[in-house]
Amino acid sequence: MRHAELISTGAELLSGRSLNRHAQTLARALAGTDLALIRDTTLPDDAAAIAGALREALTRADVVFISGGLGPTGDDVTRQAVAAVAQQPLVTDAAALAHIRALCQARGNACTPDRESQAQIVAGARALSNRVGAAPGEELVLDNRRVFLLPGPPREFLTLLTDHIVPWVRATRGAEPMPTQCLLMVSGRGESDISECLAADGLVAEGVEVAYCAAPGRVELRFTGLVAAAVEATAARAVAQLGGAVYARERLELAEVLGRELAARGLTLAVAESCTGGGLGARLTAVPGSSAYFLGGVVAYANGLKERLLGVPPEVLAAQGAVSAATAEAMARGVRDRCGADLSLAVTGLAGPDGGTAEKPVGLVFFAVADARSCHTASRQFSGDRETIQESAAQQALYLAWRRLQEYQEAKEST
Ligand code: ATP
Ligand code: MG
Repeated sequence: MRHAELISTGAELLSGRSLNRHAQTLARALAGTDLALIRDTTLPDDAAAIAGALREALTRADVVFISGGLGPTGDDVTRQAVAAVAQQPLVTDAAALAHIRALCQARGNACTPDRESQAQIVAGARALSNRVGAAPGEELVLDNRRVFLLPGPPREFLTLLTDHIVPWVRATRGAEPMPTQCLLMVSGRGESDISECLAADGLVAEGVEVAYCAAPGRVELRFTGLVAAAVEATAARAVAQLGGAVYARERLELAEVLGRELAARGLTLAVAESCTGGGLGARLTAVPGSSAYFLGGVVAYANGLKERLLGVPPEVLAAQGAVSAATAEAMARGVRDRCGADLSLAVTGLAGPDGGTAEKPVGLVFFAVADARSCHTASRQFSGDRETIQESAAQQALYLAWRRLQEYQEAKEST
């Protein structure tokens, strides 16, 4: 594998004002290529610091990316820093200048010297056209290493990666064999639980690496190795071992996978939410085309609304409490009837941080999935802060609905 380093520049990335997202964007763009991101250094807009970091990176990496600081303002110093390392002057790139002038005209902006200064590139560099912004990127060779300068705005950064960098990486690929990767998206099980499952003798083949990336309600499990057959066999054994917990073999949201299954079966869905406060509906409607199967839902936070809008019997609320399997079931049945949906989903729980008891601690969440014939309930004890519990609960609810559809399929196959 070739090694890449990223130098992210911008005071705002170090002051807490912005989250540095470029390392993730770059690593995702490079996935499946022979160029691996091995280091990300974040620096303020300081020409000496950027020059120092570039000199160091050139001693380690095959390719160095520097992001940000190509704009027109006084704090944009990246090109000057790189010119100092290259010991080259800055020169105007004619095509970049024409592009900036045309952009100013189209946007009705005055073409000031500051704006035009973005057409300056390090002498000897090649300008990389930017179809979504003013400043071009730059490509140059320093100490036999390849250096790329990319604009900071995330949309421009990604566009230049797609237009110029990824094609270059693929075109210059070495003869070394590429590792094979298999991705499994897992829900309904935690990281340590998954790791125990995979500990079974002989499950993970020799030479296959396992990596976990956990988020509330789901884990991305990645197998990597040089022998494709070993990686694929390991992934197949993991799928079998994890039962129904693997919901996709590519990076997909549960709401997308559930949506596809509902659409394929021509089924509609409605939701009744308490502790997720609309988070379930938000996830479902984030998927384009969700109107084909998602009818809508009710956010019933107060008990009175659970009674009036969902028909939860007051006796159930009095005897079992709002956080109970019986309430979840009544919510699911109620919303299904009222919305005329094929399938319904209900969530009620304690997101905290207050309100927990010994019997019903913070993080306890009940779920129900109802269809024409039956209603299944489940409960989970989540940990974490309020946001994490709400997110985990919404994901788990989607997972339970997806599992229910898998059970239809399994029942059909066994008859
Ligand atoms: P501009 O012409 O907009 O000044 P630039 O190439 O000079 O572009 P910066 O000034 O460094 O880039 O950043 C422009 C915008 O992009 C800022 O809002 C900044 O917060 C954002 N940005 C820069 N780097 C990153 C990063 N690593 N992750 C997320 N956002 C970033
Ligand atoms: Mg800038």
